[in-house]
Amino acid sequence: MINIKSEWELDIMRTCAHVTGEILRDLAGYIEPGMSTLDINQYVENRIRKEKMTPSFLGLYDFPASACISVNEEIVHGIPKADRILKEGDIVSVDTGATWKGYVSDAARTYPVGEVSQVAKDLMAAAEKGFFAAIEFAKPGYRVSDISHAVQETVEAEGFGIVRELVGHGVGRVMHEDPQIPNYGRAGRGPRIAKGMVFAIEPMITEGTYEVEVLDDEWTYVTADRKMAAHYENSVIITDGEPEIITLVK
Ligand code: MG
Repeated sequence: MINIKSEWELDIMRTCAHVTGEILRDLAGYIEPGMSTLDINQYVENRIRKEKMTPSFLGLYDFPASACISVNEEIVHGIPKADRILKEGDIVSVDTGATWKGYVSDAARTYPVGEVSQVAKDLMAAAEKGFFAAIEFAKPGYRVSDISHAVQETVEAEGFGIVRELVGHGVGRVMHEDPQIPNYGRAGRGPRIAKGMVFAIEPMITEGTYEVEVLDDEWTYVTADRKMAAHYENSVIITDGEPEIITLVK
């Protein structure tokens, strides 16, 4: 069942989503070579708690940190570590959210660490482009797979792969609500989109093969060929008109 949020619920979600968006915005100026993925996690957690909110990811399915931090060939669900040191040329994905008054938020970005290769830049840009192509269909009158199809078409046209095993989702009182929103597939299928739904739309894309593996920590998804991956995600409110991207803060 897809929850339709009331205006007061949407207001709560806007508030915590805005904090998530501010943190992701500011990480662009914070991340640099020599820091650990645990440093990034600590920064994110401190910022969430400073707003008297709680980290949506901490303890979710027993995840041990406030942000999933995934480097290079890691796609999603990387566990922050003190000994995972970022170096020039890496790309790092940070997926996080703040919870307030029982409502969660969910967003992700991939950042360059210092100067990165042209293909890394192209990969990160394609993930973002896939998201913005998709939200053209995040409107009443379309179906969920119209979003999926738009991501696939856009990202594959850039020459990159689309991860199949992981999907976007509804978001609200819990992190993963209906519907599931794959990033590939035929258009015109699945539930009809309606005003008041809130979706986390999140292309996860790969430089090479879209096949994935899970590391021995049972959390971290990596590309099967160990080439790079990028992730771009926002929580989005469906309105009568243009969708409202509540975790995107300029
Ligand atoms: Mg998500």
